[in-house]
Amino acid sequence: MNPRRRRVLHGVAAIAALARWADAACAQSSTAVRMPSIFVGHGSPMNVLADNAFTRQLRIWGVSLPRPTAILSVSAHWLTRGVTAVGSQLRPDTIHDFDGFPPSLYETRYPAVGAPTLAHEAIGLVHRTPVRTTQEWGLDHGTWTVLYHLFPKADVPVFQMSIDYDRVGAWHYAIGRELAALRERGVLVMGSGNIVHTLRATEPDVREATSSTRTWARSFDDAVAKALDAHDHDALIAYGSLDSGAPLAVPTPDHYWPLLYALGAARDEKPRTVFAGFHAGTISMRCVQFGA
Ligand code: ZN
Repeated sequence: MNPRRRRVLHGVAAIAALARWADAACAQSSTAVRMPSIFVGHGSPMNVLADNAFTRQLRIWGVSLPRPTAILSVSAHWLTRGVTAVGSQLRPDTIHDFDGFPPSLYETRYPAVGAPTLAHEAIGLVHRTPVRTTQEWGLDHGTWTVLYHLFPKADVPVFQMSIDYDRVGAWHYAIGRELAALRERGVLVMGSGNIVHTLRATEPDVREATSSTRTWARSFDDAVAKALDAHDHDALIAYGSLDSGAPLAVPTPDHYWPLLYALGAARDEKPRTVFAGFHAGTISMRCVQFGA
């Protein structure tokens, strides 16, 4: 046989095997345990290479979670306008969507497979808006830099859903509600952002929680924590009225809205703070789990 044709056929066979593997993973979800929904503060991509209190807690958290059949990530770094998209690749790329970091960070990959069957299932659950599939996005750093510590073997399929930046908080919360049914299928619904995300006021060399945390940043983060404990979802959706620090703490909503997806998918389940603290004085690394 022509060697080139043999290579092509080999590639086709490999893709077919991968598809069977992904489908088998999804089929398992019919008997899967109910997964929590989670919100993860991701902060700097450098956390991938760091050994700090936050990354150590992610490692512990990952071990404590039930094993998901797949992970649906809603990341602050995939923003679309007027449309919602879901990644349906069999092999999503690791996207290095940042500049100015050391070469070792760009060489780091997160080789999880995708979950196209569950991606289509997610689309079927969302009635509020049409959702389209795409092959044009992979796993951005909001997703892979935290999964790198939560599931270091990269052996759980992962797919992402975009955030339609033309919508409002209540809309994102409602989409989270519609996605809640995926949890019964063993899917870990994960929002990845930061409750306080004010880059223009950061102190670059500070990577751990310190007394340098700005008063307004801590005040807003505390107000969110209190509203979470009180199950006050309306206040969390209308976060601008939650605390006087809101305009500084959330200068743009992209890193806050992933919390509303996790919150919506949580229904009314009790939240548990998994990590609290600040990096660089103005980045809240708070992580929350809803449900067992
Ligand atoms: Zn980010």
